[in-house]
Amino acid sequence: MRLTTWLVPTLREVPAEAEVASHRLLLRAGFIRRVAAGIYTLLPLGKRVLAKIESIVREEMNRAGGQEILMPILQPAELWHRSGRWEVYGPELFRLKDRHGRDFCLGPTHEEMITALVAAEVRSYKQLPLLLYQIGNKYRDERRPRFGLLRGREFIMKDLYSFDRDWAGLEESYRKMYEAYTRVFTRVGLNFRAVEADTGAIGGSVSHEFMALADAGEAVVVYCPDAACGYAANVEKAESLPSLEEIGEEGPMELVATPGVRSAEEVAAFLGLPVKQIIKTLIYRTEKGLVAALVRGDREVNEVKLQNHLGVLELELADESLVEEATGAPPGFAGPIGLSLPLVVDREVLYVKAGAVGANRPDAHYINVLPGRDFPVQNVADIRQVSEGDPCPRCGQPLLSVRGIEVGQIFQLGDKYSRALNAYYLDEKGEKRPIIMGCYGIGITRTMAAVVEQHHDEEGIIWPLAVAPFQVLVLPVNYEEVPQREVAEEIYNLLREKGIEVLLDDREERPGVKFKDADLVGYPLRITVGRHAAEGKVELKLRRTGETWLVDKDEVLEKVA
Ligand code: ATP
Ligand code: MG
Ligand code: MG
Ligand code: MG
Repeated sequence: MRLTTWLVPTLREVPAEAEVASHRLLLRAGFIRRVAAGIYTLLPLGKRVLAKIESIVREEMNRAGGQEILMPILQPAELWHRSGRWEVYGPELFRLKDRHGRDFCLGPTHEEMITALVAAEVRSYKQLPLLLYQIGNKYRDERRPRFGLLRGREFIMKDLYSFDRDWAGLEESYRKMYEAYTRVFTRVGLNFRAVEADTGAIGGSVSHEFMALADAGEAVVVYCPDAACGYAANVEKAESLPSLEEIGEEGPMELVATPGVRSAEEVAAFLGLPVKQIIKTLIYRTEKGLVAALVRGDREVNEVKLQNHLGVLELELADESLVEEATGAPPGFAGPIGLSLPLVVDREVLYVKAGAVGANRPDAHYINVLPGRDFPVQNVADIRQVSEGDPCPRCGQPLLSVRGIEVGQIFQLGDKYSRALNAYYLDEKGEKRPIIMGCYGIGITRTMAAVVEQHHDEEGIIWPLAVAPFQVLVLPVNYEEVPQREVAEEIYNLLREKGIEVLLDDREERPGVKFKDADLVGYPLRITVGRHAAEGKVELKLRRTGETWLVDKDEVLEKVA
């Protein structure tokens, strides 16, 4: 490939909108261009990197026994009604109607669709286990699309789903995926940590996030300094909470009669609120006792938090004394359903000591409750189960913390979707059983940005070889000068013949511009053909270390390999 024929629009200025290194550098080095908030075009170099990451992911998924499919992005609402997620997913779901007025969404994830597929195609235990995956676009109307490819509204994900006969099978699929993820992130060159995805002290860990360690990361991870212990977990951030602005401040708190109203949905209906404003109250058992977390019902609630908390009050905790214990509410005050109330919650006040949370008693609810004004709130930092300096829950040493970019996550789902979408199989005895599922995501575009976050310097990107858009750049200092051009062409052709991915900078630019661009784009190896060309010598330069060697042009191939 010749640079004169390639679209590599590098920028000298630092784009004002880019706050983090990967965003800045991917724009400046000509890998991406913005179309709208959280929506990007990948230019030729960007597409090449993406293809490399995809093929590493594909290889590892196939190695683990995955079979690649491709599902539609456009999903009928019907499927989402069956899982109940149409109502609870919230504003992150891109919804649209067809010409007949039927509801659709752009897939943010594909549990419903794939479970429906497997429900239709799998009948017998003989067809299990099954690992199906795809690589494709996902759509999420993120509250804050930002940081370029790190948090897009359209992005590329690999999503794999496992289908097993039982929990033991799921454990095995999960283990395979954990290993495959470890291989993927190692191969793309990331410094990462697999962490427990919920710090909940309850039960075994059933979800892990793979965190690329980087200051630009929006997640915070705590970990044990003792490598032999190995404890590491995401501190909960409950980012799905609506902000004050979104819900709007309400009037003073009021206790109202709500005859027959039991669930959060009923409360909302009674108050005439749209369903999206419902905040569910999850009760956790922590070292500090029972605490309630208020969370809007969305995927995070359904799939992550539900696995480690004691239950959504309205669904599972019908025990009044437990509610009272959790809330500190006076006896008889907490209703059998718990604390499901639409509340005004400041984004910073993620967890609220439920004691004050407008506990409902039979047939009465508080409305217009404002945490902080109407009852004391505890800051999330006080209630987090672990944070930096806290004793490690496994070995007691003080924990450290670090920021991370969530590049992947794996979940044990169990039978939630299989029951909802009727995915059953017949076992050896002919008995009908729900298929036990897991799901496993990797953000492909986010991984690309995470690699840049970890591999760059003042001058630009430093691509790890495995994902570099080109492995080698041949840079004649002055392409017009005959010995330089000839030597450059000779080396370029030789490397190409040998299957090395090489780009030739055949532009008539000033040497300074060419060198700057080479560093900005971040080709792992640069071969500079300059004034020594006449003697048949060229300079090799490693982008990562800056080391250079003057070598005979005939030795280049041997050195490069
Ligand atoms: P986050 O916590 O950052 O919002 P998530 O937990 O909502 O991510 P998952 O539902 O676990 O994301 O999706 C699987 C993977 O998809 C994530 O681990 C991440 O790598 C990627 N991903 C999720 N949201 C985005 C996004 N908006 N832009 C780019 N990649 C994303
Ligand atoms: Mg998210
Ligand atoms: Mg997450
Ligand atoms: Mg996740």
